[in-house]
Amino acid sequence: MSHLFLRTLRDDPADAEVASHKLLVRAGYVRRIAPGVYSWLPLGLRVLREVERVVREEMNSFGAQEISLPALLPRDPYETTNRWTEYGDGLFRLQDRKGADYLLGPTHEEMFALTVKGEYNSYKDFPVTLYQVQTKYRDEERPRAGILRGREFVMKDSYSFDLTDEGLARSYQAHRDAYERIFARLGVTYVIVSATSGAMGGSASEEFLAESPIGEDTYVRCVESGYAANVEAVKTLAPEPIPFDGQPAAQIHDTPDAATIDALVDWANGAGLGREITGADTLKNIIVKTRVPGGEWELLGIGLPGDREVDDKRLEASLEPAEVALLTDEDFTKHPFLAKGYIGPKALLDNEVRYLVDPRVVDGTSWITGADVAGKHYVGLVAGRDFTPDGTIEAAEVRDGDPSPDGAGPLVAARGIEIGHVFQLGRKYTDAFDVNVLGENGKPVRPTMGSYGVGVSRLVAVIAEQHHDDKGLRWPAEVAPFAVHLVIANKDEAAREGAEALAAELDCAGIEVLFDDRKASPGVKFKDSELIGVPLVVVVGRGYADGKVELRDRFTGEAREIPADGALAEIVAAVRG
Ligand code: ATP
Ligand code: MG
Repeated sequence: MSHLFLRTLRDDPADAEVASHKLLVRAGYVRRIAPGVYSWLPLGLRVLREVERVVREEMNSFGAQEISLPALLPRDPYETTNRWTEYGDGLFRLQDRKGADYLLGPTHEEMFALTVKGEYNSYKDFPVTLYQVQTKYRDEERPRAGILRGREFVMKDSYSFDLTDEGLARSYQAHRDAYERIFARLGVTYVIVSATSGAMGGSASEEFLAESPIGEDTYVRCVESGYAANVEAVKTLAPEPIPFDGQPAAQIHDTPDAATIDALVDWANGAGLGREITGADTLKNIIVKTRVPGGEWELLGIGLPGDREVDDKRLEASLEPAEVALLTDEDFTKHPFLAKGYIGPKALLDNEVRYLVDPRVVDGTSWITGADVAGKHYVGLVAGRDFTPDGTIEAAEVRDGDPSPDGAGPLVAARGIEIGHVFQLGRKYTDAFDVNVLGENGKPVRPTMGSYGVGVSRLVAVIAEQHHDDKGLRWPAEVAPFAVHLVIANKDEAAREGAEALAAELDCAGIEVLFDDRKASPGVKFKDSELIGVPLVVVVGRGYADGKVELRDRFTGEAREIPADGALAEIVAAVRG
């Protein structure tokens, strides 16, 4: 440590809010260069390399092959798939001296599809899975928490190429299994949630979320069944339809000043309807406009129980790839049948506005809802009898306590950090680049792709986030920058010589030792060792005169004295054990 390029800091960096960010900066692992752009110092780089090693071992173990593509990429392929435009502000774009457009790769589906197209041309070549561990660039709107959400970050991205859907399912499963092994080895506590496929377009997709209260992803799970899903992917459990028989006819009531759900519920409870009314008895109709890529804006009506808000992320995920926007005053003026605050299903259906309802609005459910005239509402408007929506939509918020889609019990919400993503892409990219190979029967076949990502640099922060205490970092042995932190805490020359000899012996035994040989006080050294977080700390201190050294387990906090004589064997056993 007298030579190590390291300065630990006593104070938290001013811009840090989460523990991992504070500790990785204070312990001298990373340094900020610009928002979301960080340097790796010796200790940090060692941990990053350990994470990479685990990822590579598990990828190689199922036959994935490592290659490395450039980060600096020409515009053309991304133009072909329209992602040059679709990526919007998230893409770093640049020009060379001749004015040609380039980008810094945010993800490499295009380049892998083209790479395989360039080399392979027969069914005999497949399946194949390629991966890289590579630096990615995304101009994130909100870089956050140091390396947790960077604008430059390291990702393991892999791409599988199969000729059949069954083959793709197998490649997907192989990745999913490898990811489980990776995260288990890294000591990360995580859940696998079903995810919407997002902008990439495709079918099966799951995310691996590290459990963490500081996570930006909300997911829900059912403790009884183990079901877990991204909020965007939750399917509402629809109730059974209710018979129309005996349900009274809908009636229009005067409801002055009842343009909000609260006011409407107040009115209903004062109107002698013979039962207690809540927001859940009202049908709220929200109007938005949507546009499919290249199309025109169209109105869309969404009917949902009045006690629920629209969750924008769920709405967007349901409508993808169409975009969605709120109506302007001008839009309302253009469509006078939209009676703000009193919009009901009837005017929407009569005016051919597409009308989708929450899955809870099943046939036979009876609603208090707008009558499309200011100051008037229907009571007893029955779905399937008085109005027939065009379909259902998952747009309503999901709440703690909602029933799990598998019917096994209530959902609870939790937060997580996305550490991995497995995704059956299908033929989107092989279609875009006309990737054809010769099939067994002589006819061309088009390979189907999967794409899979692991946030390698993010994992360094995630592990730090899940493994620290108020004194510092506590690395799991698999990724620790060193296996042993040997501290001299004794000015005595014999102790120094003994420690040097022990360090040399450990080195010979193939154990990576961080040796604190600095001329600093024991207090300073102990503080640093706690901050740096090597799992096993060996102290050559006062007890050395009595032939003793101390072993401290940074992970469990346990400490014990052992004879200095047999220390080597005991330390080797502790490290290898
Ligand atoms: P997020 O929702 O966190 O932005 P994403 O959906 O954009 O993630 P993918 O495109 O699937 O992520 O990328 C694969 C993996 O790369 C993610 O699971 C995540 O672990 C990691 N990753 C994505 N963006 C970043 C970033 N800005 N900084 C660090 N790691 C990232
Ligand atoms: Mg992202």
